[in-house]
Amino acid sequence: MRLGLYVQVPFCQTKCTYCNFHTGVFSNDLYAPYVEAVCREIAAYPRLLREFHIAEVPEPVVDTAYFGGGTPSLLDPAGLARVLDAMRAGFECKFEEVTLEADPETIIPQKAAAWREAGFNRISMGVQSFQDNELKAAGRMHRRDDVYRATQVLRDAGFQNVSFDLIAGLPHQTHGSWDESVAQLLSLRPEHVSIYLMEIDEGSRLGLEVLTGGTRYSASALPEDDSMAAFYDRACARLASAGYVHYEISNWALPGLESRHNLKYWQRQPYCGFGAGAHSFNGRQRWANAHDPSAYVTTISQGRFPIEQLVDVSRDEALEEELFLGLRQLGGIDLSRIESEYGTNLQPRVEELRALGLVEWNGTRLRLSPDRLTVSNEVFVNLLN
Ligand code: SF4
Repeated sequence: MRLGLYVQVPFCQTKCTYCNFHTGVFSNDLYAPYVEAVCREIAAYPRLLREFHIAEVPEPVVDTAYFGGGTPSLLDPAGLARVLDAMRAGFECKFEEVTLEADPETIIPQKAAAWREAGFNRISMGVQSFQDNELKAAGRMHRRDDVYRATQVLRDAGFQNVSFDLIAGLPHQTHGSWDESVAQLLSLRPEHVSIYLMEIDEGSRLGLEVLTGGTRYSASALPEDDSMAAFYDRACARLASAGYVHYEISNWALPGLESRHNLKYWQRQPYCGFGAGAHSFNGRQRWANAHDPSAYVTTISQGRFPIEQLVDVSRDEALEEELFLGLRQLGGIDLSRIESEYGTNLQPRVEELRALGLVEWNGTRLRLSPDRLTVSNEVFVNLLN
């Protein structure tokens, strides 16, 4: 069984206005102890399984690792290398894809060379936009020029697999500025692209301003929902004509360069997460660490585990996950396998959704209609109820 390892690095230089993640700005005095704690947590993995009666993944071979956040590229490259070494010591690793999330302004030649040396072979860059006014309003530290410079640094260091994230729906974004961001992205030809629709969460400063009013975070300059859907649809068309394969609702790749690690999430394959707030799944159970990084370091240094939740996934929940996660992939799901595995008949609901043009079914595979991806939630709700 192939296993993915994930490391959560919850540190950021500043808090983006739209961010609702459990990440924050912490003193960099915490970075080194945090790295130590992650290494200890990895080494203690067999004890975790025993103490919490967690089923081991059969004959796990690790083929992917993903360092996400937060901004993992803020950490000292030597610390990142130590974490990879801890993985190699604790697991049978045959790494094929090792990803580091990096913000453009943190990418410099010395770091990029050290990342390659440590074993990273894929960088996921938080670009978000190529418009300086949008980046500034969103509270991002980098500007458009940083993206060009960082891309060159990565290429010079030998990275041949680079992913760019864009956000559709940032304050001040217009049809013209969006098209220009997509064009700039294409001109740099990353191997992989993720496009996320802006989600306004009241836990973010921008979300609070949407609810309560104000001018500080440009809530009044947010594009309409209809515009966001149009941005997404136009990006789909442009990426397709540039040769990118749309393989998941939010993800595109040049052929053969889909994110192997992230596919594990959508295909319900096992993964194991380390660090504050990291989640894990072994096929039958899901567990998660508590979010606070200082408390995480303390708990680990006391020889304890910071597990906050550990649940057995019920049959109904597993079925929900098969549909909800599986249908995010544009290749769809093998409906017959799911029906026989879970002893359920989804045909009546599939027929209803097909009549509405929301899904396509070819007798074996069920998938979302490619031109209705922005209403995917409607499909999920209908299938699951
Ligand atoms: S870099 Fe990412 S995790 Fe950090 S504040 Fe911004 S959106 Fe949140």
